[in-house]
Amino acid sequence: MLTLKEIKKDYMTSSERVRALRGVTLSFRKKEFVSILGPSGCGKTTLLNIIGGLDHYTSGDLIIRGKSTKLYTDRDWDVYRNHRIGFIFQSYNLIPHQSVLGNVELALTISGISREERIQRAKTALDRVGLKNQYYKKPNQLSGGQCQRVAIARALVNDPEILLADEPTGALDTQTSRQIMELIREISGERLVIMVTHNPEIADEYSSRIIRLLDGEVIEDTNPFSEKEEQQEVSATLSEEAYETLEEEKRAKNKRELSALRRKRKERAKMSFFTAFMLSAKNLISKRGRTAMVGFAGSIGIIGIALVLAFSAGIKGYVASMQDDMLSGNPITISETTYDLDALSGMMDTSDKIEIIKEPNKVYINSLVEYLASTSKNLTSLIIQNTITEDYVKYLRDMPEEYYSAMLFDYGIALAPSIYTQFKYGNTVENVSIQLITDRYTSILKETEFKDYASFVTALAPSFKQMPSNIDYLKEQYELVGEGSKYAAEAGEIMLVLDADDELSDLLLARLGYYTQEEFLEIVNKATSDNGEYDESLYKEYFEYDELLGKTFTVYSNDQIFSKQSLFGNDYYTYNGYASDIEGEGTELKVVGILTPKDNVSFGVLQSGIYYTEELTNHILDMNADSEIFDFANSEAGHKTLSMSSYAITYKYDFEFTKNGESGKEVISKDGVMGYVVPPIISSMMSMSSFGPGGSGGGTGGGTGGSGALGIEDEDLRESFIRSLGGNGLANGIKIYPVSFDQKDMVTDYLTKWNEDGDILVDGETITAENRNDVTYTDTLSIVIAMINNMIDIISYALIAFTSISLVVSTVMIGIITYVSVVERIKEIGVIRSLGGRKKDVSHLFNAETFIIGLLAGTFGIGITYLVSAVANAILKPLIGYSSIAALPFTQALILIALSIALTLISGLIPARKAAKQDPVVALRTE
Ligand code: ADP
Ligand code: MG
Repeated sequence: MLTLKEIKKDYMTSSERVRALRGVTLSFRKKEFVSILGPSGCGKTTLLNIIGGLDHYTSGDLIIRGKSTKLYTDRDWDVYRNHRIGFIFQSYNLIPHQSVLGNVELALTISGISREERIQRAKTALDRVGLKNQYYKKPNQLSGGQCQRVAIARALVNDPEILLADEPTGALDTQTSRQIMELIREISGERLVIMVTHNPEIADEYSSRIIRLLDGEVIEDTNPFSEKEEQQEVSATLSEEAYETLEEEKRAKNKRELSALRRKRKERAKMSFFTAFMLSAKNLISKRGRTAMVGFAGSIGIIGIALVLAFSAGIKGYVASMQDDMLSGNPITISETTYDLDALSGMMDTSDKIEIIKEPNKVYINSLVEYLASTSKNLTSLIIQNTITEDYVKYLRDMPEEYYSAMLFDYGIALAPSIYTQFKYGNTVENVSIQLITDRYTSILKETEFKDYASFVTALAPSFKQMPSNIDYLKEQYELVGEGSKYAAEAGEIMLVLDADDELSDLLLARLGYYTQEEFLEIVNKATSDNGEYDESLYKEYFEYDELLGKTFTVYSNDQIFSKQSLFGNDYYTYNGYASDIEGEGTELKVVGILTPKDNVSFGVLQSGIYYTEELTNHILDMNADSEIFDFANSEAGHKTLSMSSYAITYKYDFEFTKNGESGKEVISKDGVMGYVVPPIISSMMSMSSFGPGGSGGGTGGGTGGSGALGIEDEDLRESFIRSLGGNGLANGIKIYPVSFDQKDMVTDYLTKWNEDGDILVDGETITAENRNDVTYTDTLSIVIAMINNMIDIISYALIAFTSISLVVSTVMIGIITYVSVVERIKEIGVIRSLGGRKKDVSHLFNAETFIIGLLAGTFGIGITYLVSAVANAILKPLIGYSSIAALPFTQALILIALSIALTLISGLIPARKAAKQDPVVALRTE
């Protein structure tokens, strides 16, 4: 059944050619016990390996069942080894991390036999060699004889036709050797056994045929197999096999079963990836300490990236969660003048100063004029002038109400000059305008050490503002405090809004006349005195609610507060800062409510301050629509007066003040000046570019503006003056508070529609595109959030780039460890190959190993990340009131695990290839 024809085997070493076999011709019977005897190095192992298909002959032919093996592929050899050959080695070659049962199963595992059948057959084989009940021991818990029995069981479990044993008793004592030999003899009754030994007694006693080898040549054969005998056997075997195949195929019920059968027969020696996976898992479990370390080391890079992603997503989530909240503090605004944000970002990167080559001995001129000109051009191009028309206002009022919670129209009215209240100093009680109180305090502060900052009083304490008319919207964010407190609903009702800490600023309260002059000065005293001394009896730390509630103010019309005067035939106006100079009645305003933001509101719709109703706005607009002062402002004389600060509307005010170190009070008289109110945006730009006279002037709500500055015309200044006095019924600023962040897009879409082509229908009236001017809105919140998200992204990318380095390091490390593992498991590789495992199976084994490590590292990393995230969230929640500031999205977690697997797989590819290429003969010879 097996014939060797002139088999020669040469080994090429670096220095010489070793002729291990020099032409061996032999034939073996189907059943016999052959011993190969010979001195060490004569080629016995080589011969056995060639017969077993583990090693390949250099020349000659090996004939199996009458078929030449000259054209055998690797695959054929694998199948041959797996099905026809059982190997027994002198050093047992058991796999240490597999149980006895696992070792025996291995041969069946490689054949791809089902688990149940495997266990069943392995147990039977073990029982047969006398190892019943030792199934689950590890090889290192067995004696040498028992190990060899396991090896025999493993060789037999596939029921091979040929059993090859290489000095099976070489490492055993005499008694154990005998037991093993008895076992092998018993086996030889059913199959061909070829045993290599250098012990002639054993050979004599047990075998039926002895072949002696010397220097790679057969020198004796005690029972040769004649050619005639051989041919008979071959034909018998062949027909037997053909019959078997035929019978099997007859049993197949249909075509599909038949082809499955054929496929099965052909692809017998095949280990599934799952099997490789299980084998590797077992190996990794046996080295669990190291596996855990490798997994952890591999996970560090993943943890780094995962944490960055977790915080990135968490913070974005946090920002998103605040969007609705922030919306009330950042409405969509439309103003007459607005910044062009695109131009602004464009301006940042224009450095158009041309470098010239300078010659020596010359003083070159730095053209400041050119610089200023280009700067001013840039600055003006930043400003977009929106024309708000009546049509536009109508269009806005026509916006579907479900889009927005509130819409606020701002007419640019400055109420400080027209609202009057009680003011106390010493024993005097006067009714003066807020304007006058402000001027007075500013002047007083100028007399103190505080003088450099005196003008902040106006800047820091914003005066009366209009509240959104939608009370329900306010109720969502605010609650009333103080007994009898209620929302302002009528023109005569106003309310105070506290800040998030339930406070109001001293400057605001001072401007509103809540302090006496002495009390206010004590605040200044306390803040500025070097030795910390101040009069505690005058110092106020708080107000009771009822001290704040109920305070009254009076609004007068322009015609009441401005009096026409005449000098040498020239008309001019004076301002009546004292109510006593005013004729006629005013409208009373009363503080009816105190509002405080609810605890969960971080960005309320209102800043702290004092608020009035839309009804009051309308009342003021009505009242002042035909004010005489507007005619004056529009007249040539008025124009002249108002355009020059020194001739603007002046007024006088007195106050008593005790100067440092002096006793007694001194009455100080001051001139107040009222003129054009310069819009804050222009005034700040003027100071920015050092153009024009800036916002100096006599303590009005703004100051006088010089004509020509930055192309701002007198006309504009006059217009804003008139506007500040309620002379323009057309809003110049509109705030829209969308219902939610989602609705915001609808609002902006609605606003954008105005700028697009096509007709617009408002109130049954068609407004054509030609009749509309583009109006640019500002959506601060979107800009802020886009900026924040952009920043988070940039930071995340940078951090990921850094943490990736550790990922690369761990990948390389895993590659090295896999390589070490290959070196360690060389024996195992040899055994698997000797049992018929394919190269692919071996590489699968290592790929499975790296797969598991990658999976482990990935899940480890993700697990740790979620753990760290949970801890971070627990710590940060009380601080920021948001419970998932670190939230790794599930899909990203999966992607990272996949990445970890992919990287370790790649790192293990080279070691796995090396393992697969490992020559099984060399592998088995390695000790
Ligand atoms: P035996 O088993 O009879 O002791 P071997 O078959 O192991 O002898 O070896 C036969 C000869 O071939 C020896 O000289 C040995 O050194 C040589 N040999 C075996 N394997 C290799 C190899 N891989 N490379 C080089 N020489 C080898
Ligand atoms: Mg040998």
